[in-house]
Amino acid sequence: MSGGGYNPYENMLSIVGNAAERLGYQQCEYEAIKYPERELKVSIPVYMDDGRLQVFEGYRIQHSTSRGPAKGGIRFHPAVNLDEVKALAAWMTFKCAVVNIPYGGAKGGIVCDPSRLSERELRHLTRRFTAMIAPMIGPEQDIPAPDVGTNANIMGWIMDTYSMLKGHCVPGVVTGKPVEIGGALGRGEATGRGVMLTTLNILRELKIPVKGTTALVQGMGNVGSTAAKLLHREGVKITGVSDVSGGVFAEEGLDIPDVVRYLRAKKGNLLSGYESAKVRHITNEELLAAKADILIPAALENQIHKGNAKSVQAKVIVEGANGPTTLDADEILQEKGVVVVPDILANAGGVVVSYFEWVQNIQSLYWTEEYVNEHLKQIMDQSFESVVQIAKENGVSLRMGAYLIAVKRVVEAKKLRGVWP
Ligand code: GLU
Repeated sequence: MSGGGYNPYENMLSIVGNAAERLGYQQCEYEAIKYPERELKVSIPVYMDDGRLQVFEGYRIQHSTSRGPAKGGIRFHPAVNLDEVKALAAWMTFKCAVVNIPYGGAKGGIVCDPSRLSERELRHLTRRFTAMIAPMIGPEQDIPAPDVGTNANIMGWIMDTYSMLKGHCVPGVVTGKPVEIGGALGRGEATGRGVMLTTLNILRELKIPVKGTTALVQGMGNVGSTAAKLLHREGVKITGVSDVSGGVFAEEGLDIPDVVRYLRAKKGNLLSGYESAKVRHITNEELLAAKADILIPAALENQIHKGNAKSVQAKVIVEGANGPTTLDADEILQEKGVVVVPDILANAGGVVVSYFEWVQNIQSLYWTEEYVNEHLKQIMDQSFESVVQIAKENGVSLRMGAYLIAVKRVVEAKKLRGVWP
């Protein structure tokens, strides 16, 4: 995580500053995007099942509303902290800008381990947190969504709590809800589907055939498992996957549907318990350094750092997680000639379909899953092409290319709106 003195917010500032300078902006034109617009810290009291009152720490941070309402997920994880949430909020601003959807960026989080909470504790925690951030959120202000440790059910509780406080149903306050109460078809798989589409796009760009290409996936949560499943279906050979318990590796390719079935079969099933002929157990560090064409980090930030970047053998990295590569690791990878497709492009599929969900909620008009997937593909393909083109024109990495597009869109919006009063 953000250990070792590494600050993801500083990481973000440095890339944004660099992009703004390359774009020729003066300091006064981009100064404001270095600071989140609003930061709220809350203390959330919850009666635990054993009768104790426990107080949890939570955050909601809006980085920018220049291009539209703030948008971004809510993370439940023990390592959540202010700088992490600030960085994640800013990444949402640039992610929404790079795929050109009319949102700013936000993020929220609660310091907790959801796997150790009962359903009732989780529900009370979510509802009280929602009530405490209610003055800040709303379909026209700030729209939360799932992130690490949260899911559709939790989004449903957020929607209900907010609606109860308002006195009427407000489906558009949150995205990633269960389909039965206004969620978009395809939202559950959208981030992983976007990672799959981006992987196919970069393979096409580099003229690497899809069939038989090997890939490693770090993280078997919503994003990693969907990306692995969909890429496997496309003919990519997934040779290694990992989760918090470690990884499994098979030279001739893993049976991904079987791995996913095992992980979903029972709460608490982890890869360390997965057994199959020809499958070897490895550590997370070994997975990152294993031999394969593609590496998809789809877990948490700062996984590829100065200490292990040199040992990465993959030729291509597609960032399914937010901020999985530190700035110094990025430089090492660039020197090694590894092509990195950046997070703000590669994992944008989730927020793109969140946007579709919000649009449907506002119009009370619902789309088919085919329509959602088709429009997601259109946006992912178009954004990929623009990033590749600008990176080529400027002779920069895909990450810098994505930031050149995103920073320009945010700064131009700010300039057009002006500084009030
Ligand atoms: N948490 C996801 C992300 O990091 C989705 C955010 C959203 O849909 O608003 O992109």
